[in-house]
Amino acid sequence: MIEIFKNRNLILNNFIMKNDSLGYTYENKRACLFCGKRIPDQWHKTIKYCPRTVLEDGTIENHKDDYHSKYSKPLNKPYKFIAAYHKGVHERIEALFNVVGNVVTIEDVDNFGIDLSRPFQFKVSKDQLYKFYFHEFLIEQLPNNQYKISQHESF
Ligand SMILES: [Zn+2]
Repeated sequence: MIEIFKNRNLILNNFIMKNDSLGYTYENKRACLFCGKRIPDQWHKTIKYCPRTVLEDGTIENHKDDYHSKYSKPLNKPYKFIAAYHKGVHERIEALFNVVGNVVTIEDVDNFGIDLSRPFQFKVSKDQLYKFYFHEFLIEQLPNNQYKISQHESF
């Protein structure tokens, strides 16, 4: 039961004041996780935020979204960087594959800006040849010191 209110005053009148006109009580001391405003005891137990509100100027106030963006930003920042890095590497491997082909030299790899020291995973075969796993591409060292590019199941 999320209610949309036309303006902030209605919310203040109905939900913030201790004695509200709708007869709500606040014994449970439940409060919006974002702003700390009280949530009436009569509201559904799963409600943890103020109702989504359309203000007089038309902007929408949504404390659930605000709460999650506030707490997810610092957490996601380093991961966004990693995702952006691997997206770039993926595009460069794809370009190398399309331009040069599926067998390339280490110079080709360097020319396309692909850093083999930063894959998602790498393995060493029993012949001491390296396998570099990126998001969708596998770059395998061949015995003649060339490299083979193929696709694998994405991580
Ligand atoms: Zn709130």
